[in-house]
Amino acid sequence: MTAPLAYRFGGAFFCELPFYVNKHVLIPRFDTEVLVETVIQNCKIKSKILDMCTGSGCIATVLALHDLFVTASDVSRSALRVARKNAKLHDVKTEFVKSDLFSGLARRKFDAVVCNPPYVKTGEIGKWDKNILHEPRIAFDGGPDGLDFYRKIIGQVSEYLTNNGQIFFEIDREQGKAVENLLRERNFCDIKIVKDKQGLSRVVHARKRIL
Ligand code: GLN
Repeated sequence: MTAPLAYRFGGAFFCELPFYVNKHVLIPRFDTEVLVETVIQNCKIKSKILDMCTGSGCIATVLALHDLFVTASDVSRSALRVARKNAKLHDVKTEFVKSDLFSGLARRKFDAVVCNPPYVKTGEIGKWDKNILHEPRIAFDGGPDGLDFYRKIIGQVSEYLTNNGQIFFEIDREQGKAVENLLRERNFCDIKIVKDKQGLSRVVHARKRIL
């Protein structure tokens, strides 16, 4: 099976902008544009945003181009190299942190956390999209029910959010209710599921409740 065109070419478009990609990062998906749009619509300019699991940095870069202060984190040094290159390509001042989820972010607070975590169910890898078999497994394997990362992130994210801070997740079309329930259990409020133009659930968005 030949590698996806984006890897052979070394680049892909996201939000109508070019980005470098290589085999260390997930190829940016059109599906993720609704995540970026939702963040831009809901965050005031100059808000402090954390893009967790940044991969190629495409989300971080587009947000930074919209006048948001972005910190981008990833567990993979190789991915961070690509993300840095993309920030440079678009001349934005993103801060990069090597971090396994929150491990490298002690005591930091953000107005919003944005994340497109790995969410494909282990048993369904390659079932819908064969290209994914060329992509880094750590970027998309979400465990047996695809929810491993949502559980870990939702369990800790409150500590890293300012009062009234927001969380934005990309989700698979079938994960909306499950992620909503995880957020509700952790006392998040204003939980909304955002659909894409085809009417498929793509984003879950919520706010930290002020206690
Ligand atoms: N959207 C990708 C796919 O379905 C998966 C991305 C992810 O796990 N974050 O192939």
